[in-house]
Amino acid sequence: MTALSRLADCHMHSCLCGHAMNSVEEMVQAVYEMGLAGAVFTEHLPLPKALDQDRTVSMHREDLPIYIEELKSLRGRRGYVDITIGAECDWLTNDPTWAEQACQLARAMGAECILGSVHMLDGWAFDNPDEMDQWEIRDVEDVWADYTEHWIRATTSGLFDVMAHPDLPKKFGHVPRDAREYFEPAAVAAADAGVLCEISTAGLRKPIGELYPSADFIRELKLRGVEFTLASDAHSVQEVGFAFQETADVARGLGIERFAFPQPDGGIKWLQL
Ligand SMILES: [Zn+2]
Ligand SMILES: [Zn+2]
Repeated sequence: MTALSRLADCHMHSCLCGHAMNSVEEMVQAVYEMGLAGAVFTEHLPLPKALDQDRTVSMHREDLPIYIEELKSLRGRRGYVDITIGAECDWLTNDPTWAEQACQLARAMGAECILGSVHMLDGWAFDNPDEMDQWEIRDVEDVWADYTEHWIRATTSGLFDVMAHPDLPKKFGHVPRDAREYFEPAAVAAADAGVLCEISTAGLRKPIGELYPSADFIRELKLRGVEFTLASDAHSVQEVGFAFQETADVARGLGIERFAFPQPDGGIKWLQL
């Protein structure tokens, strides 16, 4: 079993986003207490107000500099934890320029690693339990086709370092008949773009009960030379490093020999399994 000190958690949130439980400092403390190699903190970048009326999905615009400064000061104080300042950015399918502006602003303020995520298709948050009823009236294949098209656009936009939860539409169990139809072009795009993809244990905690991406999708990505980060997408201290050792074993079984750990200087530290 891979020691936790050889693994970094490259996706986590704090209460700043309005739907997670703990403070930035508590989350960093949890990384330290688990004995992980480090973490990439990835708070949700502020969404346009129309998409997040009550501010329960993303952080407030005025909190962005506070978030980055807090991580800088924690990093200064806690030499024992290796923290990269990151952010998770939504790819808005009806306004691709939005992600461009959001990433530019975040990087100018000090973000060192940005995750790209497609959570919404034309404003429909398909992974939100409150918007589940839409699945009843939509064709699963159409959703996957639409999602894959936009995921590829996001992946090849040049804006993101890592693509988060690559097969997110399966969250509640909506899987396509022939997944390869979607995974193959997605994997080719990721390889061409040279982005990292995350292996997220968050899917294990959701109704689908499997990793994002699935073993088949991981194989497809691996085949084309895509490298991976390991991620919990923790929204509480209890979820930091969730199921990491088991997942490292699964990854090794799929032929993965190392995980990427994006660094503050834009480089990558390779963590051998
Ligand atoms: Zn996400
Ligand atoms: Zn997230």
